[in-house]
Amino acid sequence: MYDIAIVGAGINGCSVAYEFTQVGKKVLLLDMQKVAGGGSGAAGAFISPKFSKAGELKELLHHAFVYSMEYYNTHFPHLIQNKPLLHIAQNEKDAQSLRVYKQNSSLKLLTPPNSLLKKLSLKAQNQENISINAGLVHAELLCQAMAKGATIRTHEVKNLIYEEEYWLIDELYSAKELVLATGAYKKLMPEPYIQLRGVWGHRIDVSTTTPNSHSLHQFVSISATHEGKIAIGATHNLEYHPQTSKEPYNVQNGREELLNKASQTLKLDNIKIEKDYMGLRSGSFDYMPLVGKLVMSKETLQNKNIRLKTKKPNYEEYDYYPHLTMINGSGGYGFVLAPYLAKLLTEHILQGKAISDRISPARFFARYAKKL
Ligand SMILES: Cc1cc2nc3c(=O)[nH]c(=O)nc-3n(C[C@H](O)[C@H](O)[C@H](O)COP(=O)(O)OP(=O)(O)OC[C@H]3O[C@@H](n4cnc5c(N)ncnc54)[C@H](O)[C@@H]3O)c2cc1C
Repeated sequence: MYDIAIVGAGINGCSVAYEFTQVGKKVLLLDMQKVAGGGSGAAGAFISPKFSKAGELKELLHHAFVYSMEYYNTHFPHLIQNKPLLHIAQNEKDAQSLRVYKQNSSLKLLTPPNSLLKKLSLKAQNQENISINAGLVHAELLCQAMAKGATIRTHEVKNLIYEEEYWLIDELYSAKELVLATGAYKKLMPEPYIQLRGVWGHRIDVSTTTPNSHSLHQFVSISATHEGKIAIGATHNLEYHPQTSKEPYNVQNGREELLNKASQTLKLDNIKIEKDYMGLRSGSFDYMPLVGKLVMSKETLQNKNIRLKTKKPNYEEYDYYPHLTMINGSGGYGFVLAPYLAKLLTEHILQGKAISDRISPARFFARYAKKL
């Protein structure tokens, strides 16, 4: 019997596994592929905030960015590169947001060196920009390092049954707590209000004779040179989905898109593509992640005492699956968000601390129930 079983060994599942193994819990980590075999293995993975004017996602990402930079540097210093980031506006609307962001930001702003600015394309040189200290983690090695203290099994989970105080997983494993961290893959609990969309992304590692000192973000992200290589990513492809598309993904088109977008910021000489990475991001329909307990919709809808059509629903009234939580919907910011969200989830499970309604999966149940 495990204290906790986690389904999905991407950055979300691995971050939760790390939190629990650190406090001496017996953790089972199940994945149908390998550790970081899903979207996480494809990520860059840049650690940066969201440079927008305002909004909940910007606020959440700000806290998560500050937290994860400190966290990775403390726990996994060998797997993070601390690099200055130069974020360049794509257009005038973007430039306006950056100006507002700079006025209100509590982050230390850097002055990008002239030598770097001179190397940028003329268009990029003339755009508004912002520079801060940021990071880049090694996605796969980081997930593996976080998962190290857990028992890892390659297994596709199909059937979950709650039996007298524990979860029985495919009649093979049992655990007191269950966490679903399954990314953009087929959902395990067939709850109609949980809707996640998979956004396919492609990134490449290239070797080039052009040295680069900063992470550059504009139409795509271009990493600083590391071990002679530069990472370029990522595309946002809404048409292709590995589980539903009839045609195979066109790798050549993806490469061309990435190189074309990168060249609009910085001219890279003598490029050789070293490796392609592809995967699905998992996004929610309000762009905020989903962290916490899962509402049992059938039971909750049948409960006549619960006010479902009210403007201010009380999530505490709903019926929830016992000892089951999820962590998902991180979109393009999984590596920024995961340590912070895993901390919130762990405190919730172990100490009963409340999780904000804004990231609770119950918000989607409330909307779903209202429409019925
Ligand atoms: C090309 C690309 C570039 C990106 N760049 C960045 C970046 O620079 N910075 C950043 O912060 N984020 C980036 N992201 C986003 C980030 O990768 C995701 O937000 C993150 O990987 C989500 O992690 P996850 O653990 O939720 O999902 P995943 O990593 O997809 O993990 C889910 C896991 O669950 C497993 N699974 C699913 N169902 C089952 C089942 N029934 N049984 C067993 N196992 C199951 C899958 O095999 C998979 O391994 C990028 C994403 C892509 C695709």
